[in-house]
Amino acid sequence: MAKYTGPKCKLCRREGTKLFLKGARCNSEKCAFDRRSYIPGDRGSAKGFRKRLSDYGIHLREKQKVRRIYGVLESQFRRYFKIAASRSGITGENLLQLLECRLDNIIYRMGFAPSRNAARQIIRHGHVMVNERKVNIPSFLVKPEDIVLIRDSSRQMQLIQEAMEAATEVASYEWFEVEKDQFQGKIKSLPTREQIPLDVDERLIVEYYSK
Ligand code: SF4
Repeated sequence: MAKYTGPKCKLCRREGTKLFLKGARCNSEKCAFDRRSYIPGDRGSAKGFRKRLSDYGIHLREKQKVRRIYGVLESQFRRYFKIAASRSGITGENLLQLLECRLDNIIYRMGFAPSRNAARQIIRHGHVMVNERKVNIPSFLVKPEDIVLIRDSSRQMQLIQEAMEAATEVASYEWFEVEKDQFQGKIKSLPTREQIPLDVDERLIVEYYSK
């Protein structure tokens, strides 16, 4: 499946929820979902009549929602699902844990980027190191004890500086710690489901792929 390059706000309206794809704008009055929460092109839902989804539709929408939140292509998402299913434990929780451990998600969660999309840009341009080695692959998976660091030469970037200022209000996470003055963070453990602030029902995704 090709990468979606259209307007990000349209995705939120399509999924009927805020996916937080545009950094600070998502929490401002400019948020397109807050202003027009109906499905693009669906005048019925604009008047409050959202179409009733079939079972398949419900499963599909939950899968698409999570895939879009993390910015992952369908083929890659399916691969994550296979890995999650092959691990011991609860498949849906394993899946979210894998997605959370992506380097782009970590850079975003640690407050070094305003969105996962911006985090991918920062990583691809070589501004990030993991355990003292440059990593420019957004899908790189971190593990406990890994140290994630913004490189010295990149610390004055406006994008990073602004994100860090805005992140002062971001809730702290138990599974990693951040030293803002050092521009680095350390992974303490893998996240449990309770530690992943995501309002989704991952069981629906498991059912979607199990059909
Ligand atoms: Fe979604 Fe953010 Fe756009 Fe609002 S501003 S519609 S949360 S991407």
